[in-house]
This record gives sequence, C-alpha cells and structure tokens, in this order.
Amino acid sequence: MATPNKDYYAELGVKKSASADEIRKAFRKLARKYHPDVNPGDKSAEEKFKALSEANDVLSDPKKRKIYDQVGFYSDNIDPATAEAYARGGGQPGQPGASGGFPGGFPGAAGGYQTYSGGTGNVDFGGFDFSDLFEGGRAGGRKTTASSSSSSGGGFRDIFSSIFSGGHPAAAEEGPEPGSDLEYQVNVPFWTAIRGGVMKLNIARRDVCGNCHGNGTIEAPGVCPQCHGKGTIEQTGGRMKFNVTCPRCHGTGKNVSTCPVCHGEGTVERTDPLEVRIKAGTRDGQRIRIAGKGNAGLRGGGVGDLYVIIRIGQHPLFRREGDDIYITVPVTAFEAALGSKIDVPTIDGRSTLKIPPGTQSGQKLRLREKGVPSATKEGARGDEIVEVQITVPMPRDEKTKELLRELAKLNPEDPRAELWGKV
Ligand SMILES: [Zn+2]
Ligand SMILES: [Zn+2]
Repeated sequence: MATPNKDYYAELGVKKSASADEIRKAFRKLARKYHPDVNPGDKSAEEKFKALSEANDVLSDPKKRKIYDQVGFYSDNIDPATAEAYARGGGQPGQPGASGGFPGGFPGAAGGYQTYSGGTGNVDFGGFDFSDLFEGGRAGGRKTTASSSSSSGGGFRDIFSSIFSGGHPAAAEEGPEPGSDLEYQVNVPFWTAIRGGVMKLNIARRDVCGNCHGNGTIEAPGVCPQCHGKGTIEQTGGRMKFNVTCPRCHGTGKNVSTCPVCHGEGTVERTDPLEVRIKAGTRDGQRIRIAGKGNAGLRGGGVGDLYVIIRIGQHPLFRREGDDIYITVPVTAFEAALGSKIDVPTIDGRSTLKIPPGTQSGQKLRLREKGVPSATKEGARGDEIVEVQITVPMPRDEKTKELLRELAKLNPEDPRAELWGKV
C-alpha cells in the first residue's frame, strides 16, 4: 500500500472542475513535452507520458470521468449504476441489479459502513480484515482521517488506487512494437570513397534479450503464486468486492517473473562489429541502408534498419564535388600568355593539360573524364576542373627589368579602362 493516489487532475495540472476543452488542451501541451519521440531513451519522460495518457484516457471520456469522480479511481470492471450507488453513499446492498458491474457484488446485505464504524466483528465483509487495511493506509503516510464513519470513504479510495497503480494491465495488452532504425555517421577516407573498400565499424544497438527471448519475463513451472493461476485477484473495499487483473502475471495465470538480464525490457544493449562495403565513387552525405541491423523490436515486433551516413575526408590538394575533382594549379605569366602544355596532378597520377594562349588567372580548364568513376552509372566518370593561378614574374636582374619595360611600351593597354566606363 505504498503507492500514492493517482490524481489524474493533478497529473494534467487542471482543476477538478476543468472543462473537456481545458483537459484536452492540457494533455496536448504536456504530451508534446513528454512524448517519447521528443525524449528518446529517457525512461522518466516515458513513464510521465504513460501516466499522462492514462489520465487523459479517463478524464477525456465523460462516462469514465464520472465514475472516476464518484469512486476515486477508474476500472472497466465498474458499471456506472454501481458507481452512482456508491457515490450516493447508500447504495442498494443486496440488490442484484446494483452489483452487476462488480463480479463480487456487495457481499453482505447486513453490511453498511455505519455498522463498520463501530468496529464490531459481526459484519460479513467476505472474510476481509477491514481494520488492517486502514491501519496499513495510515502507516503508509497517507491522510489520516478520524476513525469515524466518514473514514471508510477515504480508505476505500486509497486501497483501490494502490491496487490499480500496482498492476495496470495495459502493459500485457500492448501488441508487438517494431524496433527503431539506427543512424551512424561514418568518416570515410578520401581515397576509400573513390576506390571503394571496407569500413570496419562497431555498432551499438539493442538486440533481443537471449535470456527471455524478448518477452521481458521468464516463465517457471507451476502457476502464478499470487492468483494461483486464475489471472485475477479479489480485492475488497467497503461493501464491495472486485476481481482485478493479477498484477504479477497480468492475467495470464502463469508463473512469470521479470527477466533479470534485461529487467523486463526484452532487449539488451550490445555492440556488434560490422563490415560495411564502400562502393567505388561513394559520395559525401550518401546513406547506406543495412536491413535488419537496427534495434530489435518488442514482443515479436520486427527489427529496425541501420543507416550508415557517409562523410568523406579531405585531401590536401583535391576537392571533391559529386564526381568532379577541383584543383588549383599555378601557371607562369609566360605560359599563360603564350600558351603551353603543363603536367597537372589527377586522381590517376599525372595528366597533360593544354593552356590556351591568353589564359587569365582564375580561369577554369576542364580535363574530361579525369574525375571520380561514378558509383551509379557504369563506365561514367566525372571531370577534373583545373583553376589557373597566374604567378607574376619577379625580376631580380637589370636585364629582365629592361625587357619587361620594353614589353610594357609595346603593349600600352589599360586593363582598368572598362572599370571606369562602368562607374
Ligand atoms: Zn497471477
Ligand atoms: Zn530478458
């Protein structure tokens, strides 16, 4: 009885008088904050989200909310007429019609809590030791009401909210949940991406727990020791008896317990070595899908995929853009002015590049099919684009200076003439 009351209104941060619209808005706001997608791997956020969903499930349904308001908790086992009867305080003990929703019904026609408050032992509560429960409730630090007739109401709520919070059957009813995909960024060296190769990776992923085969529970011979195989346990409070789903076996009646290896998760974290083949011509930013290497699913849900995202390393000389290679090459003013053939580096080694006469600094010359072989188009290759960078002569001797002055006199052009025309 150590579990605190479930206050759905407090959970959603609304008043008991809140309208349906206020409840809806409050839930949406909190759900956005605590949604598992927004907080991946955060257990406390997940728990909070579950609690919010449960509160919203009850409070957003007028019928469920009414029962919750009347009885102090909600269960599908309670029918509205009985809740109504309970709320009125009198009830119709002994009348079959009033006890329809409660498998145990009202056990004793003679029983009324007015009789109970006297503390006499002559009332039949189905063998249930009433006073012990209330003692337990107080010991647990919950509100202590005076031992008058009104205390049974408070105690009743405490008892049942504890039962329901302890063994919520929702977990057992969840279906298979597919495993999530994983994304890994891999830094591939410049040359490996061009020529192809194999990258050895270590991938941390969640795998099916070998101990419980993903169930999260292990089954021992025999039946559930709490419900003795029935799947339900009988709980009594006030004049009522309830058959509630057994919290230990979630209604299966089997002798199950939480798997000690995965602590009920069904999956365990493990690191797998993985070899990823890098195709020749792989581009930066490319995603490689490796089916079935993501996280394991729960309760028989399929396994996710692994996505490897390629990040290509830098080269001191070559710059890669798609299948094209860019390089900047210095050319002397004489080579550029007169035209020449020079050797330039390519990813295959040396290649001859023709510099046309009158080439300007910054001009880009193309070496066709000297780029990266395409990973997707068989036989296709990118180009190498050479940016020309003119080096200016540095005359140190008088003879050269004299020749350059003579050259200047022969070519009296003004390279800035066009600029002035545009000002
Ligand atoms: Zn059980
Ligand atoms: Zn396990």
